Amino acid sequence: MKYCRFQFHGQANYGLVEAVAGTDKITRLLLSPPEDVGGDMEDLASKRMDPIVLAEATLLAPVRPSKIVCVGRNYREHAAELGHDIPQEPLIFLKPPSSLLGAGENIRRPKISQRVDHEGELGAVIARPCHKPGAEEDLRTYILGYTCVNDVTARDLQDKDGQWTRAKGFDTFCPAGPVVSDEIDPWAGIALQTRVNDEVRQEGNTQDFIFSLDTIIRHIAELMTLLPGDLIATGTPKGVGPLVAGDVVEVIVDGIGTLRNPVVDE
Ligand code: MG
Repeated sequence: MKYCRFQFHGQANYGLVEAVAGTDKITRLLLSPPEDVGGDMEDLASKRMDPIVLAEATLLAPVRPSKIVCVGRNYREHAAELGHDIPQEPLIFLKPPSSLLGAGENIRRPKISQRVDHEGELGAVIARPCHKPGAEEDLRTYILGYTCVNDVTARDLQDKDGQWTRAKGFDTFCPAGPVVSDEIDPWAGIALQTRVNDEVRQEGNTQDFIFSLDTIIRHIAELMTLLPGDLIATGTPKGVGPLVAGDVVEVIVDGIGTLRNPVVDE
């Protein structure tokens, strides 16, 4: 099952997304935020609407998290390209929810940075509160679904500051979407790709994670309670590179879709 969040008659709504004759369409309005239901997407109540082609909808980020938790250096070749050793435990950091951006909206390059990079990633959306889960628990039951994320990064400020709040935290630095899907299995291997102006810049597969998603969730939930709707960005494969005004950047995750955002200068 897939859902999106979109503008409809001047209001933000969640909608069920289905393929109709090969075209993704929003076919039903969800009656409550999916992250409020606490588990299985199949339990979501909905009502009919006149279908809207997903690609023509005004999309919003499909999550309203209390926090966005990101994993740095979760692919060996990406750690190497930035000159880092392979981490011994997950390296995590936060992006503020105010950095979220919907599919189709503009990434704004701040004047203060000379180097703004794309980082295409798989995102996982939390279904129910998770705090110090038991060793025997199946952590998949805490995941509502998956989406595409672009962990946009001011690389020069990341190097300059020594910590990452500024580099990762600007408004528009966390595009997410276009949908949340529970139809993929990152443990089985999901391919992801980042393109800039139709040119492939990053290619990876979740089979190449240094830390699996259950290890990541367990690590995070040992120190902070994950809440419904929280977003986890699972790290980026090699090939990160700069964006300039006029670029169109796409993060494509197999089985989810394409997160496309134009880039503008502030
Ligand atoms: Mg990243």
